[in-house]
Amino acid sequence: MTAQAVETGDLATVIGLEVHVQLETDTKIFCGCSTDVGDDEPNTHTCPVCLGLPGALPVVNEGAVEAAVKVGKAIDATIPEETNFHRKNYYYPDLPKNFQITQYDAPVCQDGELEFSVEGERRSVSVRRAHLEEDPGSLQHKGGSIDTADYTLVDYNRAGTPLMEIVTEPDFRSPDEVRSFLAKLTEVLEYLGIFDATRDGSLRVDANLSIVEGEEVAADGSIGEEALESANRTEVKNISSHKGAEKALAYEETRQRNAIQRGRVVEQETRHWDESKGVTLSMRSKEEEKDYRYFREADLPPLKVSDWKERLSIPELPDARRERFREEYGLDEESADKLTSTKEVADFFEDVAERFDPGLAATWVADELLGELNYRDMAITDVDDRFDEIERLVELVAEDEITTKNARETVLREMLDDGDAPTEIVDREDLGKTSGDEVRQAVEEAIEENPDAVADYHDGDDGAINFLVGQVMGKTGGSADPGDVNQSLREELDG
Ligand code: ADP
Ligand code: ZN
Ligand code: MG
Repeated sequence: MTAQAVETGDLATVIGLEVHVQLETDTKIFCGCSTDVGDDEPNTHTCPVCLGLPGALPVVNEGAVEAAVKVGKAIDATIPEETNFHRKNYYYPDLPKNFQITQYDAPVCQDGELEFSVEGERRSVSVRRAHLEEDPGSLQHKGGSIDTADYTLVDYNRAGTPLMEIVTEPDFRSPDEVRSFLAKLTEVLEYLGIFDATRDGSLRVDANLSIVEGEEVAADGSIGEEALESANRTEVKNISSHKGAEKALAYEETRQRNAIQRGRVVEQETRHWDESKGVTLSMRSKEEEKDYRYFREADLPPLKVSDWKERLSIPELPDARRERFREEYGLDEESADKLTSTKEVADFFEDVAERFDPGLAATWVADELLGELNYRDMAITDVDDRFDEIERLVELVAEDEITTKNARETVLREMLDDGDAPTEIVDREDLGKTSGDEVRQAVEEAIEENPDAVADYHDGDDGAINFLVGQVMGKTGGSADPGDVNQSLREELDG
C-alpha cells in the first residue's frame, strides 16, 4: 500500500454484480413439477428428478430457455450457436444431487449491455454473461439463525426452479448506481413477462466490491484489467432487494476504506449481509472456480439456439416506450416516466388514451390513479380487474357528467376504498352534474334571497359575486361547476 492511498480522495470504489433472478415458468427447469409453490406443505412439489434420486434424468424446460433468450435480446447479448449445461460440484444439504446443473463455457447469453440512469445521468453496464441454472432447495433454521439454530429442516419445493444468473463487469463505481441498475433490470425483466418482482426471493444479489487507488481510474472511468485483478475484493451474499444491495455495499465500502486508511489489508472473502443488523459478516474465504470441478452434464444434450433469437419476439421495452409516449402523446418527461413504470400501467394508459383525449388519460392514470394507489400502498396489479370501471369514471368526466373535483375526491377514492362501481357511487352520493336548468333556477333564487349582495355587486364590489356563487353551490349540493355558476350569475345580474 503506497502512502498516497491513505487519502480517501485517492481511492475508487469498484463493484460488480452476480444477480440471480427467478424465471416465471409453469414448471421447474429439468422436471414437470409445478413452480407455483406458494405456502404449500414442504416437499410436496418434488419428484425423482428434483430430489436427485438415482437414475432420474433431467429434461430441459423449453420455456426457461426461451425466457433466457428473451433476456439476451433485451440486453443485446450474443446468443451462441450452441449452448450446453455443466455440473457445478459441491456439497450442501439444500442440494440433493451434490451438484448444481448450471452453465459454464457456453452460457446462453454473452456480452450484453444495460443502460440505466442515476439522477438523470445515463450510465451503461456491460453484462459479461447470463446463464441458466437450477435453484437449490431452501433450509429452515429452527430455534435460531444459521449458526445458533437447534436444528435445520430442508424443503425441496424450490429445488429446480429456473434461475438466470446475470453477471456484470465491475463497471459500477458507487452503491447508488447499483440500486438504479437493479431497478432498471427488474423493469426490463417484468416487461418481458418472465419475472415477478413481488414473488418472495425472486431476486438475489451477490455483490463484489473492492477499493482501488484513484490513479488507476482512467479519464473515461475505466480501470485497467491488472488493477481489477490484483485488488482484494469481497463478495457479499444474501442480498434480496434493491435497497438491501445499496445498504450492504455502502457498509462494505466504508468498512474497506477504513481498513485501508488504517494500513490494513482487506481480506479476499465471502461475506454475509445481515439485513436486520445492517452489517456484513465474514462467512468464509472465497472459493475458487477450481473448487467446483466443473464438467459437462452428460444427461443433457447441447441445445442449438442460434435461430431462437429471430424466432422469439419481445415487447417494446421501457426506454423505447417512454420515448414513443413523449412523441406520440406529447407527454412531459415526468408523466412518460410514470406511465411506463410497469408494462401494466403503460398498457392501461394506451387503452384509455385510445378512447379519450391523451392528456385526460395521462392525468387520470399517471396522477389520479397512481397517486391514489400509491397512497394506499397498492399496485396497478391490485386493480387490473377493475380497468373497465376506471375507464367508465374517465368517461363520466370526459362527457361532463360529473365534475373533476367529485370524480377525483369522491368517486375514485370510494371506488378504491369500498370496491363500488363508479355509477353506483355517483347515484348514491348524488353527484350527477346539475343540469343547466337547475343551475339557472338556483341562480335566480340566490339573487332574490340576497338583495344586499346584489346591491354590493352593482356598487362595484366584485367580491359579492363569490358570496353568491357560494349560495348557488350550496343549493346544488356542490355538483354544479363553479365557473359556470359565476358566468350565469354575471349574465343574470348584468342583463
Ligand atoms: P470469480 O472468478 O472470482 O468468480 P469473476 O471474474 O467471475 O470472479 O467475477 C465475478 C464478479 O466479480 C463479477 O460480477 C465481476 O464484475 C466482479 N469483479 C471482478 N473484479 C472485481 C473487482 N476488482 N472489484 C469488484 N468486483 C469485481
Ligand atoms: Zn421435480
Ligand atoms: Mg464467478
